[in-house]
Amino acid sequence: MLTPEELKQTKIFSCLDEQDLQWLSLQAAHLHLEPGEYLIHEGEPASFFVLVEGTAEVTKDILGRTVGVSRHQQDDFFGELSILMATAAPASVRARTACRVVRLNPQDLQELIRRSAACSASIMQTLNERVQAVQQYMLQVPVSRVHIVGSRFDDNCREIRTFLNTNRVPYHWTDTDRIVRAKLTQPVGSNRGPSIVVDNVQPVGQPTIRSVAKALGFQTVPKRRSYETVIVGGGPAGLAAAVYGASEGLRVLLVERKAPGGQAGSSSRIENYLGFPNGISGEDLSQRAFKQAVRFGAEIVLTREVKQVSLRSDGTYAIGLDGEETISTKTAIIATGVDWRKLNVEGVDSFIGRGVFYGGERADAQTVMGKRIFIVGAGNSSGQAALFFANYADEVTLLVRGNDLKQSMSQYLVDKIRLVANIHVETQTYLLSAEGTDCLHALYLGRTGQPVERRNADCLFVMIGADAVTDWLPDVLQRRNGYICTGGEVTDFTHWRSHRPPYLLETNLPGLFCVGDVRNGSIKRVSSSVGEGSMAISFIHQYLEPTRA
Ligand SMILES: Cc1cc2nc3c(=O)[nH]c(=O)nc-3n(C[C@H](O)[C@H](O)[C@H](O)COP(=O)(O)OP(=O)(O)OC[C@H]3O[C@@H](n4cnc5c(N)ncnc54)[C@H](O)[C@@H]3O)c2cc1C
Repeated sequence: MLTPEELKQTKIFSCLDEQDLQWLSLQAAHLHLEPGEYLIHEGEPASFFVLVEGTAEVTKDILGRTVGVSRHQQDDFFGELSILMATAAPASVRARTACRVVRLNPQDLQELIRRSAACSASIMQTLNERVQAVQQYMLQVPVSRVHIVGSRFDDNCREIRTFLNTNRVPYHWTDTDRIVRAKLTQPVGSNRGPSIVVDNVQPVGQPTIRSVAKALGFQTVPKRRSYETVIVGGGPAGLAAAVYGASEGLRVLLVERKAPGGQAGSSSRIENYLGFPNGISGEDLSQRAFKQAVRFGAEIVLTREVKQVSLRSDGTYAIGLDGEETISTKTAIIATGVDWRKLNVEGVDSFIGRGVFYGGERADAQTVMGKRIFIVGAGNSSGQAALFFANYADEVTLLVRGNDLKQSMSQYLVDKIRLVANIHVETQTYLLSAEGTDCLHALYLGRTGQPVERRNADCLFVMIGADAVTDWLPDVLQRRNGYICTGGEVTDFTHWRSHRPPYLLETNLPGLFCVGDVRNGSIKRVSSSVGEGSMAISFIHQYLEPTRA
């Protein structure tokens, strides 16, 4: 606690009278920071700070890179801008030297402004200067680090755009298909692959999500040869396991073949996850979880696929990554989720990437701009995609086999869809075939007792459910329809060498755990996946306990 006399010595509070200083002394927190320690992180709820001693650096996450933007010296105050504008902290502040700081919460800043006209004038003048500085900053800061030149009908181009979106890396995209159509010099969809420039440097050869990830500075190679736990898959379940594992002191590696977030990362708005009353986009949730896991010390390698998991004779696991790299681990967590189910309808396969897409990504917004699009499927993911694409497409048609959307979609989505004029729901309707030339042009639809109807279509998004793809895992791993059995479901004990039964989320291979959508009998939700990911860490501690003694 700072005394009224000590507070009086700071410039901003020197104008306060005895009574106000007494009041302030009872409200103000007195913080001590070591060099490098963070006072506040970008995006956190704001507070008002006065630097009593030392110097601090202001850093900002600009397009995925942490950049130093300014410094604070003794007697500087900050935080008033976000409190008065009711926003989160626009930047992070960390101590450069040992610092002492006074912190007031937002209500106390308001009270201070009410009590002291002199303090208020000083704060408002600084606020004014800062608003002007923000204006200058907005003119200088680059809009994107990545420029993509590629066709909307190129799968690789779409995958890279999705990767950038999910990682919240803004990019500029020149759609060559649009240019080609305008000039009519080449057939639409002529597929020479995208060309990509990152920070004014062109990735070599044919760009892939890995070369782009490397160029942007994401980790793509594990730093160690062995870990206490390796998590396969960076959806909500894997990310939760990484956060809890790293925060509880385990050496954790998470391997994700694409970008963090999994299926949830492709959701335009998750409205039923606890703590977000207005919903949160999948990208936002994934990025927060990714940063949280990294902050706790988890290693996350992106754009790498686990190809093999094998139990060694000493009870540890060998994890084989693509590119023939092998990592050792005492325990592993399979959190690989599910993949979109394929639609076996004539013609559909030949237009994949050229009008037909599995799943609906935010990166597709530009692709559907001003188009007539169809979504086949009636689950929550189709509902979210319809609502999202309706903001960009001319017309969105949901093709539903059942009598009613309510049979398969949450009521809140059904209610919203009803209110959107350019979304049409066609029930008891079957997709019979797709037709086109260089890209999709039309769909043939069937309804019981009615003639087949041909409908012009620019895009078809297939969202008819998902399956667990686990055939790459060891044959001895017990599965049911591809989904991995755990805990009480385990009946095959051929490779079980322990006297105890498997833990709740443990497979029939000791030390190999399974969480989230890929687990047999799991509830396919973000919250349950997060719950399972965190629970698995607790079981891993119990599993490792005897080896630590
Ligand atoms: C469009 C959409 C909207 C949704 N909306 C909601 C919602 O509003 N509320 C809700 O509760 N639920 C929602 N869900 C369901 C929810 O997203 C899933 O239940 C949840 O994401 C499952 O998490 P998971 O971590 O188990 O698997 P996933 O999210 O599927 O993640 C698995 C990850 O593993 C990676 N992977 C797979 N194999 C490998 C490998 N061999 N090597 C490395 N990485 C690998 C994948 O790339 C993927 O990133 C939605 C789903 C979709 C598709």
